[in-house]
Amino acid sequence: MTPTRETFGNIPHGSVILFYCLTLLTLAVFAYGVWRRFKLWRQGVPIAVRELLAGNLRQIWGKLEPGLQRLLAEGLGQARVRGRGLPSVAHICLFAGFMMLFLGTTLLEIDHLASGISHALKFHQGTYYVIYEFTLDVFGLLFLAGCVLFLWRRIRRPASVGHRGTDWYVIISFLAIGITGYLVEGLRIVWQHPTGIAAHCSPVGLLVSGWFSGLTESSARSTHLAVWWVHAALVFGFIASIPYTRLLHTIAGPLNLFFARPELGRMAPVTMEEVEKTERIGVSAINHFNQQQLLSLDACMECGRCEEACPAFATDKPLSPKRVVQDLKELMTWNLKPQTSGRTESQAATSLRARALHGETIQIETLWSCTTCTACVRVCPVRIDPLTLITDLRRNRVGEGALSGTAATALRRMQSSGNPWGFPAAERANWSEDIGAPTVKENPSFELLYWVGCAGSYDRRAQRVARAVVKLLKHAGVNFAILGQEEKCTGESARRLGDEFLFQELASANIATLAKYNVRRILTHCPHCLNSLLKDYAQFGGHYTVVHHTEFLNQLLAEGRLKVAGGAPPSEAMTYHDPCYLARVNGIHQAPRDVLKTASTAANSSATDYREMPRNREKTFCCGAGGGRMWMEEEPQKRVCALRAKEALDTGTKTVAVSCPFCLTMLTDGIAAQSDSAQVKDVAEILAERLSI
Ligand code: SF4
Ligand code: SF4
Repeated sequence: MTPTRETFGNIPHGSVILFYCLTLLTLAVFAYGVWRRFKLWRQGVPIAVRELLAGNLRQIWGKLEPGLQRLLAEGLGQARVRGRGLPSVAHICLFAGFMMLFLGTTLLEIDHLASGISHALKFHQGTYYVIYEFTLDVFGLLFLAGCVLFLWRRIRRPASVGHRGTDWYVIISFLAIGITGYLVEGLRIVWQHPTGIAAHCSPVGLLVSGWFSGLTESSARSTHLAVWWVHAALVFGFIASIPYTRLLHTIAGPLNLFFARPELGRMAPVTMEEVEKTERIGVSAINHFNQQQLLSLDACMECGRCEEACPAFATDKPLSPKRVVQDLKELMTWNLKPQTSGRTESQAATSLRARALHGETIQIETLWSCTTCTACVRVCPVRIDPLTLITDLRRNRVGEGALSGTAATALRRMQSSGNPWGFPAAERANWSEDIGAPTVKENPSFELLYWVGCAGSYDRRAQRVARAVVKLLKHAGVNFAILGQEEKCTGESARRLGDEFLFQELASANIATLAKYNVRRILTHCPHCLNSLLKDYAQFGGHYTVVHHTEFLNQLLAEGRLKVAGGAPPSEAMTYHDPCYLARVNGIHQAPRDVLKTASTAANSSATDYREMPRNREKTFCCGAGGGRMWMEEEPQKRVCALRAKEALDTGTKTVAVSCPFCLTMLTDGIAAQSDSAQVKDVAEILAERLSI
C-alpha cells in the first residue's frame, strides 16, 4: 500500500469549515496588526522603494541583489545570529524547526487543494511522504529544543536581554504547539494503524502513539480531534499575535535586512537645500527619521548584543544602544499613533508631551556618550543601526547650539584654525623641520602624499609617530611629500559629533588643496583620517587611494625596501590594540600584526612574546576617543580607556602596540594609571627602532 495520509483525516466536515473560517479571521487580525505598523513606518522620510524597480531587468537585479543576498545569508542562513553560544544555538534550533514546520504545513495545504481539484495531482504520498514525515518529525524536535533553551534563558533573565510579559505567552505557546503537534501525530497513528514504512517514518510520533496504545479506536479518534483543535487554536493564536508581540521582528527583521544600507563608517550627507526646505537639520521629531530607520525599530528583538558590545554602556555612561532603539520605538508607537482611540484628550496630550524626543525620550548625555565605535551596528543580527540614529539626533542638537564645553570649543577651533587645539596653521609643519619631510611645493613630483593629521602635526607624542613614519619612508626611498601648512583637519570628528556643515567646509578646503597638487594616493597613520578621506570625501568629489601606514609599511617590508636587523630583539610581551576605524570599519587588522611579527623576528629566532587580547580584530573594544569623545571630559572612574588598558595589561604585556593617534593618547593615559612598567607605542615606532641602518 502506498504510504500516505489524509490532510484532514478524522476531522469532520463542519470542523474543516470552521477551521478555514478561523484561518481567515486569524489572517485578518495578523494583517491588521502589520498594517498598523506599516502605517507607522510610512510616517518617516520616504526611501526610494520605487527606484528599486526602475530600469531594465539587469539594472533592477543589480539593485535587488545585495538585499536578497543579505536575506539569504543573514535571514535564512542566520549568519549574524551565530557565535554567541547558547542563545545562538537556541535561535537557530527554533528558527530551523519553525521554518521547516511552516514549509511542511504549506506543502500539506497545497497538496490538499491540488488533490481537491484532481486526485491525480496528489503528491503527499509514496517516497515524498516518507521523507516529508521523517523530516518534519526531526525538525519538530529541533523546534522543541529551541523552545526549551529559550524558556531556560527567560527564567534566568540575563540583564542585557529585554523582558516583557508577552514573552511568556510567546514561548509557552511555542512549546504547547510543538507538544500538541506530536500528540496529534501519535493519536493519528493509533487510530490509523499505518503499517510498514508509513508507521516508522515518524519515529517521535510512533513513540508518542505508545502512550495511547490502551485507547480504543473510537476514543483515539475523539481524543485526536480534541487535541487537533487545541493545536489549531494555539497556532491561530500564535499567528495572530505576531505583529503585537516580540514576534514582530520576524516580519520587520527580514524587511530591515533587505532595505538596510549598512556600510560601516559612511554617513549620509546633508545639503543646504534640504535644510532650507525642511527648516531643520538632523532629527528633532520621530518622523524625521527615514522609513527604513522607523522599520528598523520594530526589527529589534531586544537581544542585548549591542548593549554588551557598547563601550559607553560598559563604563556606566547613560547610553545603551538597545535602550535608544526601544525608546524610539516606544515614541514611534505613541506619537505617531494615527488617533487617540480609547484615550481622553488630556490623556493623549499627556502621552504626547511625555514623549517629546529630545531631552525626554533621549537625553543629551546619551547622545554625547557615543564613541561612534560601530560595535553595535556590527553585532546586530538584523542590521539595526543605533549609531546612525544617534548621529542624526546629534546633528539636530548641534544645529540647535546644544553642544557646549570642551567639544564645542574644539569645533570652534577647527573652524578658526583648522585644528581642534587652535594652534596656528603656520606651525603645522614645525615637527618636520629637523627630519626633512618635503612639502608638496618642495617636491612637486611626489608619488605619495603623507597626510599627517592634526595629532601628528601638533601633539608632541603623536609627532614622534609622524617622525617615525618619515624615517621609514626615507629609508625605503619612497618619493613622498606632505601638505605642510596647507593641510587642515579632515573634519572627521566634527562630522561624527554632528556638525555636518563644519565638516563640509573643512572637506571642501582639503579637497581643493588636494586637487591643486593633483593628489591621488594618500598615506596616513590615522584611521579616522583614512576613513574620512576614503568614505566621507568621496561623497564630495574627493576620490583617492588611501592607505594606512601599517599596510604600506608591511608592503615595504615584503618588497625588501625596509629591512629589520641588528640589536637584541624586544624580549618582553607585546599585544596589539585594533583601532575601531581601522579593524572594524575598514577591515585592516592583519597588516599591523605582520609588521609587528617581522619587526620582532627578523633579528634572530627569539621572537617577541606576542599576546592577543580577548577582543581583537573586528571585535575590538574602543579606546574611548572616537565620535568627538577625544575632545570631551570623562570622569576618571568611567573612562573607556581604563577598561581597555586593563584588558591589555591582563595579557601580561609590557608593550601595547597601537596604530592610531587617538588610541595612542587614550591608552597611554589608561596604562599610566595602572602600570609603571608597561608602555604604548605606535607600530611605526616599533618598526623604526628595529630598522637596519
Ligand atoms: S538593536 Fe539589534 S543587537 Fe541591539 S537589542 Fe536590538 S536586535 Fe539586538
Ligand atoms: S557606536 Fe559604539 S559607543 Fe555608540 S552606541 Fe554603538 S556601541 Fe555604543
